[in-house]
Amino acid sequence: MPYTSTQLDAEAHRLYGLLASVSKTRGEKWTLQECAQLAPYTLEINRLKKEKNAAILAHSYTTPDLVYGVADFRGDSFQLAQQARQTTADTIVFAGVWFMAETAKILNPTKQVVIPAGRAGCTLADSMTAADVQKLRAAYPGVPTLCYINSSAEVKAQCDACVTSGNVFDIAQKMPGDKLIFVPDMLMAQNIEIELKRRGTPKEIIASGGSCCVHDKYTQQDVEKLRADHPGIVVLAHPECAPQVCALCDYVGSTKGMADFVARSTATKFGLLTEQGLVNRLEAEHPAKQFFWPFGVCAYMKKNNLLNTLRALVEPRPEQVVQVDGAVAQAAQKSIEKMFELSK
Ligand code: SF4
Repeated sequence: MPYTSTQLDAEAHRLYGLLASVSKTRGEKWTLQECAQLAPYTLEINRLKKEKNAAILAHSYTTPDLVYGVADFRGDSFQLAQQARQTTADTIVFAGVWFMAETAKILNPTKQVVIPAGRAGCTLADSMTAADVQKLRAAYPGVPTLCYINSSAEVKAQCDACVTSGNVFDIAQKMPGDKLIFVPDMLMAQNIEIELKRRGTPKEIIASGGSCCVHDKYTQQDVEKLRADHPGIVVLAHPECAPQVCALCDYVGSTKGMADFVARSTATKFGLLTEQGLVNRLEAEHPAKQFFWPFGVCAYMKKNNLLNTLRALVEPRPEQVVQVDGAVAQAAQKSIEKMFELSK
């Protein structure tokens, strides 16, 4: 739809107002000229959302033009799963990776759920199949089994409950017995074992071998360098990082947990061992604070962009439409609903 120069100019300034403090690449911030290039797309996407009663849910790891230009809800896996459960929209456009859009579809079987990036993977979700979980459960009969939300619907369907990085420790603590199977993140499994021991409720954690290709790259040297380069810095890490890295940080928590920590902290310099998208969100929301990050980008999340979001709204390609087999969806839904129940 053609827009007038006044509409385009106003939209460019709206976007610039949101993105001016955000890094595009190292050291460079978004410019008004770049925002002007985005304006025709954001205007059209926002118009189509109203016309089609669609809601856009954007994970914090997607790019800031999506997060601030067109998203109705932004957040981490848990927050977006909650939003997907509550929305009254007819269509959910899920800017994230496949397992997240699948979760939205499982919670909204009668709605259309589309994902701009198509079948965007995740090294964690792709590391494990339903058959792998069945083998583990057969090897440890009767042991409760939790899966991280970063898993396929088929894997969720085999587990007692699903967890996110925000509720993993509390839910693991609530599970009965002194053993727990946790899939598919082996580093988070190690972090659970350490945290439960610290809480005085130790459990043996039986893990599989997956890891996040962004968070597993961070090292103890990254933390030491942040502290050496920026005296007084407060360093935050995601629990998908290795335990020896987490041990050197000031705070370890989910994407939301890190955002909340920064919001309530009086510190002005933060080191972030997480994905670029969260760094960008914090830059946008706390322009007076400084953020340093040793570089970690999820190529899967970055497959979402304004163009494929527009396409998903106008006429989605088959690979953008999310479908989950009925029996798998039903079993996976139980595991997701159990998480909501246990995280109250
Ligand atoms: S950041 Fe890691 S866990 Fe998140 S989608 Fe990318 S690969 Fe998966």
